[in-house]
Amino acid sequence: MKKKISVLGSTGSIGKQTLEVVRNHRDKFEIIAISANKSIDILLSQIDEFKPKYVAVYDEESFLKLKSILKDKNIEVFCGMEGLKIISSLDEIDVLVTAIVGMIGLLPTLEAIKNKKDIALANKETLVCAGELVMNEARKYGVNIFPVDSEHSAIFQALNGENNKEIEKIILTASGGPFRGKKKGELINVTKNEALKHPNWSMGQKISIDSSTLMNKGLEVIEARWLFDIPYSKIDVLVHPQSIIHSMIEFVDTSVIAQLGVPDMKLPIQYALTYPNRIDSNFEKLNLSKIKSLTFEEPDLDTFPCLKLAYETLKLGKTYSLVLNSSNEVLVEEFLKGNIKFYDIPKYIEKELEKHNGISNPTLDDILQIDFTTRNNIKEMIGG
Ligand code: NDP
Ligand code: MG
Repeated sequence: MKKKISVLGSTGSIGKQTLEVVRNHRDKFEIIAISANKSIDILLSQIDEFKPKYVAVYDEESFLKLKSILKDKNIEVFCGMEGLKIISSLDEIDVLVTAIVGMIGLLPTLEAIKNKKDIALANKETLVCAGELVMNEARKYGVNIFPVDSEHSAIFQALNGENNKEIEKIILTASGGPFRGKKKGELINVTKNEALKHPNWSMGQKISIDSSTLMNKGLEVIEARWLFDIPYSKIDVLVHPQSIIHSMIEFVDTSVIAQLGVPDMKLPIQYALTYPNRIDSNFEKLNLSKIKSLTFEEPDLDTFPCLKLAYETLKLGKTYSLVLNSSNEVLVEEFLKGNIKFYDIPKYIEKELEKHNGISNPTLDDILQIDFTTRNNIKEMIGG
């Protein structure tokens, strides 16, 4: 039986690589639905190749355009948040790949969980803003959440079969991003293009900026906290510039288990789709004698305060990680537009966190309300 897949955000970096995994294993996977915000040209070529039955487009103008182009074709086209929810919870699908960027993925993910669809989760922002709620819902509906993020896939693989009570520490590795080794004074005026140049991975713009500030690693610490139900004090970050060790676990008996591989997101994507099995692949093989040395260093929290802020939100608990994420989403967008400078990102996040009165056990409505308020506050701060 082929695994039937819906992809939230099929036109992005993770979305395209998901389709590549499917392309290489047509006998094992079938694409039932795809979606995007605006990239209808890419959607059209994906429809042509993968023949999904459903497509969702968030942006209304793009939806109308695509609907008219596809009017004689045998495919259903949906629009807006409602459309994203529909393609996330279709009767026909086995798994939803959340390759969408940002907290916008939260509602479709919850819809999928309520309809007992397993999740291959790339969309880390969903767990950062509502980790407790999402994981509780997943437990309630008996849904599996398979990590796609390479570090979390590594932990998931290293943990295979072990009890998470026996974990002494999770060690999340970080490449250090394009500005590793630089000091604060050298980064004050960095441009968007400099920040977008990641040394080891080719990714979407938002996560690339997050990697340059180390916010990505901060979001990943929060993601790991919820995915593996582990206190933040047991999650360490270790800079490993070669990105060969994708993360490791130290167990209570001091044994350390790591997962290694050539940096390629198709591997964690494929594993999330085939777990608990492994299938062959054409990915580049790891040749350690060619790589020769793997190096490690402590993260520089002074130069990269976003990582420190992320840990602080976990310490504060309540809705502080949500505020961190919503602020960061707006600020990254503004940095990409050239409206703010590199260090305005942590500066405004910190200001917003100081203002926030966190609430315990937030409902979905609380979360959406706080997200809305935070975004407005940040926009006002930048404007003023
Ligand atoms: P991209 O920016 O490359 O792609 C984002 C996708 O989401 C696109 O398909 C985009 O559509 C879609 N999208 C954005 N906004 C909306 C919206 N409002 N409604 C519907 N669709 C929308 O991002 P990445 O693939 O790099 O990242 C996706 C997620 O995976 C992120 O959460 C990221 O942190 C995570 N991740 C990514 C990794 C990577 O290597 N890229 C590694 C690990 C995790 P459109 O094309 O129309 O804009
Ligand atoms: Mg990662």
